[in-house]
Amino acid sequence: MKKILLFCLLVLFSCDFKNDTLPNVIVILVDDLGYGDLGFTGSNEISTPNIDSLAENGVIFTDGYVSYAVCSPSRAGLITGRYQDTFGYGLNALYTPKDPNMGLPLSEFTIADLFKTKNYKTLAVGKWHLGAHESLRPLNRGFDEFFGFLTGGHQYFPEQWNLADETEVKCNFCAYRTKLLRNEERIDENEYLTDALSRETVSFIDKSFKSPFFIYLAYNAPHGPLQASEKYLNRFPNIKDKRRKTYAAMVSSIDDGVGQIISILKKNEIYDNTIIYFLSDNGGAKSNASNNAPLKSHKGTLYEGGIRIPFVMQWPNEIKSGTIFKKPIISLDIFATSKAIINPDLKLNNEIHGQNLLPYIKGNNGGYPHEHLYWRNNGHQPYIENGVRARYITHAVRSKNYKMFIRRGDSMLFDLYSDIGEKNNIIEKNRPLFNELVKKSVEWNKTLMDPIFLGLRDDELYNKLNPDRYIY
Ligand code: CA
Repeated sequence: MKKILLFCLLVLFSCDFKNDTLPNVIVILVDDLGYGDLGFTGSNEISTPNIDSLAENGVIFTDGYVSYAVCSPSRAGLITGRYQDTFGYGLNALYTPKDPNMGLPLSEFTIADLFKTKNYKTLAVGKWHLGAHESLRPLNRGFDEFFGFLTGGHQYFPEQWNLADETEVKCNFCAYRTKLLRNEERIDENEYLTDALSRETVSFIDKSFKSPFFIYLAYNAPHGPLQASEKYLNRFPNIKDKRRKTYAAMVSSIDDGVGQIISILKKNEIYDNTIIYFLSDNGGAKSNASNNAPLKSHKGTLYEGGIRIPFVMQWPNEIKSGTIFKKPIISLDIFATSKAIINPDLKLNNEIHGQNLLPYIKGNNGGYPHEHLYWRNNGHQPYIENGVRARYITHAVRSKNYKMFIRRGDSMLFDLYSDIGEKNNIIEKNRPLFNELVKKSVEWNKTLMDPIFLGLRDDELYNKLNPDRYIY
């Protein structure tokens, strides 16, 4: 009997008890959402009670940013916790399943790899857009399971998914019509895309809730094409503009998904120990009927409308509801915060650029998580100058309430606390500060690489250089 007792004690003390209390983590990343298009960011047109509940029950980051103004590089930053230009991820990836160099380099350690160091179950759902080559797909990047698609976007209705797989894709955007993937298999699906992504997330939670899990839920809504089902369109009889109405319906379908996720967490009694992040990968697009008010401009630019996004974090066990955090933070902080919570001693080969936000949110640290945040926009549209193909490269730095921005020969400085809409360039009165921020930007740029692959706007050039792109 004594021996048995001793054995039990030994087993008990050798167990990693922490594992029993490690939180689940869900990152809900939406696509091209307008800053002003949620209840909690001021919309009186689109009702989003479930997303609003995340904001009310956790912390709202009023000055939350992403690290790039378009989809693919922004995701590369979030998923590695690193400024993506550090490893040459400076452009929006093309859909090139035969190209192992188009996407997130294998030298990068992902947030899913991080969770695997503590045996989390990991799931990626929805839009991937970090490389379509088989070596770059989710199951090779730390995820146990995947349900979704590899492209930068997708058609929303199953009847449009009429390409069996990549061998039938003959143009970049044609890939929006491929059948969905479950892990590595193409499958038949019957539901409206956003509903299918929500359903798969809920089902994973319901089967995995007994051990810690990490879910990267990347809804492609409300990214174009603007397509919504009647169920959601019917909620907006007062919006007459058809595109705006469809966009609103798409946002509403995400909100339903968030509601289903909250319900299944509560049903399984894991709601309080689950961290949920909600954010958009970049600002509202010019083309998707989004509303970025009160921010200036849209997706693709380094004005606030391109990079400042609705950003909330909920963790009932640890974060006081109704918290508002006004200092600048960035999507890269999700990686650093996760690491600090689940595996602070882990040594990483790559330097991460985010900060653990918890001490700041809880008020244990009254400082700024980041003295400076940096952006470099490698140019969306190539142009020809003196016969040479080049890009418009723009630079921005955020420091406390100030933002330095250099764009196409314009030098700008804004005080975002008094001028969120970036209307008043105050550079003339603040040259020394502007110069200091330019100097910081120049230093930071020395740590970056030029883009290592061609981007969406280089589709034609890529086809010329790779004539066998669509040949299988
Ligand atoms: Ca996007």
